[in-house]
Amino acid sequence: MSAIRGKNNRTTEVKLRMAMIRNGVAGFKMHVNEVTGTPDFYFKKERLALFVDGCYWHGCPKCGHIPKKRLEFWAAKIKRTKLRDKKKRSELRKQGISVLHIWEHELKNKQSIATVLTKIKKRCGLTIWIRRPMIK
Ligand SMILES: [Zn+2]
Repeated sequence: MSAIRGKNNRTTEVKLRMAMIRNGVAGFKMHVNEVTGTPDFYFKKERLALFVDGCYWHGCPKCGHIPKKRLEFWAAKIKRTKLRDKKKRSELRKQGISVLHIWEHELKNKQSIATVLTKIKKRCGLTIWIRRPMIK
């Protein structure tokens, strides 16, 4: 993983982590090495791997763009990342782990973060929610 990608990714991860904690989502661990692909977040009990991917490096169809300089190089690089992501996901599914993929742009504002949280909730069921009021 490149340093740039890692840096960018950490910001989005922190955002999601904060949102989950604020909304009482529990039962996850971050950067779980024992799980294929080292998911950014992993819910062990629910067997859900959560990946937060940068729009740029993972070739988001909505906002990813390929720089004009060294076009071929970048296009190939992004294509490789996408292939790797695809392989990672199918391997996890084979192991009975469900995969949820979140784009960086989905964490842009409060409203889109709320949508992401709903997605996670739907996937995990109610087990991950701690019974406590929302902290503002
Ligand atoms: Zn995007």
